[in-house]
Amino acid sequence: MRRAGLGEDDLPAAMVNGSLLRRVTPRAVAEVLGLTYRADGRPVDLVVVGAGPAGLAAAVYGASEGLVTVLLDRAGLGGQAAKSARIENYLGFPHGVSGESLTRMAMVQALKFSVRIHSPCAVAGLDLSDERRPAVLLEDGTRIRCRAVIAATGAHYRHLDLAQWTTFEKSGCVRYAATELDVRGYEDQPVTVVGGANSAGQAALSLAARGATVNLIVRGTDLGARMSSYLTDRIRAHARIQVHTGSTIRELGGDDTLASIVAERSDGRRDRLACRALFCFIGADPVSGWLDGVAKDHHGFVLTDSRSGTALPFQTSAPRVFAVGDLRAGSTKRVATAVGDGAGAVSSVHAALADD
Ligand SMILES: Cc1cc2nc3c(=O)[nH]c(=O)nc-3n(C[C@H](O)[C@H](O)[C@H](O)COP(=O)(O)OP(=O)(O)OC[C@H]3O[C@@H](n4cnc5c(N)ncnc54)[C@H](O)[C@@H]3O)c2cc1C
Repeated sequence: MRRAGLGEDDLPAAMVNGSLLRRVTPRAVAEVLGLTYRADGRPVDLVVVGAGPAGLAAAVYGASEGLVTVLLDRAGLGGQAAKSARIENYLGFPHGVSGESLTRMAMVQALKFSVRIHSPCAVAGLDLSDERRPAVLLEDGTRIRCRAVIAATGAHYRHLDLAQWTTFEKSGCVRYAATELDVRGYEDQPVTVVGGANSAGQAALSLAARGATVNLIVRGTDLGARMSSYLTDRIRAHARIQVHTGSTIRELGGDDTLASIVAERSDGRRDRLACRALFCFIGADPVSGWLDGVAKDHHGFVLTDSRSGTALPFQTSAPRVFAVGDLRAGSTKRVATAVGDGAGAVSSVHAALADD
């Protein structure tokens, strides 16, 4: 810092290609590196918004099938999947693959097919005034006119605002699903399920069925308020499930791996409970605010194909705008499904463009 004449007020600073950038932002670095989108007059067939597994797959399939494809992401490549230390259920990787490796390989594949990747590059909206030529509007005011758009901006899994959450998420001790693979390793272990709807109830039962001792933490005071009675009856009768209604998690304990949680009752009393893994089912919020004028369900997930009243798979209520992955109403929130959606939507794009 001394050699570059930098004071504390200049931080964060970056040295990029010989230029010194003070109070730098990811966008400023991206600009110097030439990663931001610059209109160059070249026609674009397909713009894919969001570079998680769904968007990366859409871009790879689109470009490999001859469409001039631009892929934009506001943060970086890989989306939620990049957060996963080990994806064990993705076909072809019997020993699992880290989200980071999968993303890197997908990126190389996208570049091989000449996908134009720009990130960080945030999309703010769409201009649908010309039905045959939608335009993607970037946050910096740039407009990309194209022939079709695939929206792949995913969903944010809600989490608890607790210290060490990200550490335990990265080490796999915080899970957002309770599939066979998520549960593996926690048989005969104390675990916590947080949430009060059916997904939390089903997770608690499937964990207990495999021998885990389950603490089910529900913020509301009535287990039956948001959960079906066929689940509440079985949960109440299960010897290995302890229900804590009117309870909130206040603390996570452990070093690299989770060892305990602290739950606070409505009267303020706190209990430290042994816990090797926390299964979080408190909902997900779709990243769909930028899709103005496109039909969504009451949670904000984008309606596609028959649900949007149109014929093509993955098509939204807007012509030539398609939605894939976690963003899509009714999709299975998994990497493989997202990839399948991305690939499938490209067939619909070809069908939609056939009458150009
Ligand atoms: C911790 C964790 C572990 C997981 N582990 C597994 C697992 O082991 N196996 C499995 O099958 N599934 C797993 N999942 C679920 C899986 O990651 C998701 O289902 C999958 O990533 C969804 O892909 P997507 O492309 O639809 O959305 P996302 O992965 O959410 O990607 C969306 C992308 O859109 C970008 N974006 C958002 N808004 C904008 C905008 N306005 N402009 C530009 N870009 C934007 C975001 O930056 C992001 O990169 C896990 C999820 C989490 C959180």
